[in-house]
Amino acid sequence: MGGWVCCTGIISQNCINAFNIDSSLIQRNVNSARVYSPSGKQINLWRKENQAAIIDRGQFDKYMAERAQLAGAEYLFKKTVIDLTIESDHISVKTNSDDKRLEFKSRAAVIAVGFGSNLIKKLGLAPPADFVIGAQIEVGSDHISEIEVFTGNKVAPGFFAWLVPTLPHRGIAGLLSRKSPKEHLEKLLSLLESMGKINYNEGEITCRGITIKPLTKTYGQRFLVVGDAAGQVKPTTGGGIYFGLLSARIAARHLEKVLNEDNLSIKSMSSYQREWKKDLGQELKICYWGRKLFERLGDRNIDRIFDVTTANAIDRVLLEAEDISFDWHGKAILKFAREEAITKSIKVINIPFKFVKRGRFDD
Ligand SMILES: Cc1cc2nc3c(=O)[nH]c(=O)nc-3n(C[C@H](O)[C@H](O)[C@H](O)COP(=O)(O)OP(=O)(O)OC[C@H]3O[C@@H](n4cnc5c(N)ncnc54)[C@H](O)[C@@H]3O)c2cc1C
Repeated sequence: MGGWVCCTGIISQNCINAFNIDSSLIQRNVNSARVYSPSGKQINLWRKENQAAIIDRGQFDKYMAERAQLAGAEYLFKKTVIDLTIESDHISVKTNSDDKRLEFKSRAAVIAVGFGSNLIKKLGLAPPADFVIGAQIEVGSDHISEIEVFTGNKVAPGFFAWLVPTLPHRGIAGLLSRKSPKEHLEKLLSLLESMGKINYNEGEITCRGITIKPLTKTYGQRFLVVGDAAGQVKPTTGGGIYFGLLSARIAARHLEKVLNEDNLSIKSMSSYQREWKKDLGQELKICYWGRKLFERLGDRNIDRIFDVTTANAIDRVLLEAEDISFDWHGKAILKFAREEAITKSIKVINIPFKFVKRGRFDD
């Protein structure tokens, strides 16, 4: 714990404040992002105050573990959970390390195993309905001071790529893709080099799956599912640290209550899902819809959106809106979808106006 993690570590200022994240983990504060269209048009999103920070993601894991230890948690490292069996009065947790198998008995379990664990299936839950792959690499650069975002089918089909500053002379380049993320990232690195933005690559490209649609069921008798394992991730960007932390807080409060009441039945555990969905459900649905819409745009559509956005100062309107922030994208997506200039420019796409007008999805 504490080493390189396949995650860029961008979190909002709001996340830092809400979870009291120590400033020593921050490698860079940022208050602007430059977004490039497929043909190289630019939109600069800038606010006076810091909007986000790039944290040392490996150290962040270690720091959170230390906070948990101070609060009484005990960690067992280098043990993989290979099976969970739900009994009437406990959960049996089997672990594997080297040749040794151990079995623990627990009153409850929090399944926070990230993307792609077979424990989800073992617990009888349906796997995530949609996911993408994120790839990233550490790069050398003296020329980045803000978050840079690149769009277009040649860079990251249906998604986007990023270049962010971390420590002095260093940064991280990454992207999301449904297919061949490594190949796309290699092409991006050549492009960034030819643009003079980076001068060398450090280390290896690492890839990891990211769930972008939550599990239909994130609970069961005696257990809750949290974080990437549950799909509590922004479908727009694949960012999961903040929503994972928000959901973990809800899960912790819920568990405290049900353990005190000694009621870990399915029914009692189900209110965890109701609670996190109250805060994140609509946001995730709107963002997933926005994500799917974006995936259907061709390069010319994206370029046209850039033109219309700058010509109509839509970027300024969004930046001045207080209810739109680094973490919450649903309202921005709806504002975009309600802009006649935008809908006209991407008329090839069928926008469900009833939902856009109402601003919410019905279950
Ligand atoms: C390339 C890339 C860039 C990203 N950049 C950002 C970003 O800038 N900002 C952001 O907010 N999000 C980002 N994300 C997403 C972010 O990394 C995840 O949302 C976040 O790490 C989820 O945390 P988690 O604790 O749910 O899962 P994880 O961080 O995956 O942690 C799960 C842990 O469980 C352990 N585990 C798994 N199975 C078992 C088992 N059977 N037994 C024991 N232990 C087990 C794993 O070893 C791991 O330590 C990025 C993702 C990728 C792929």
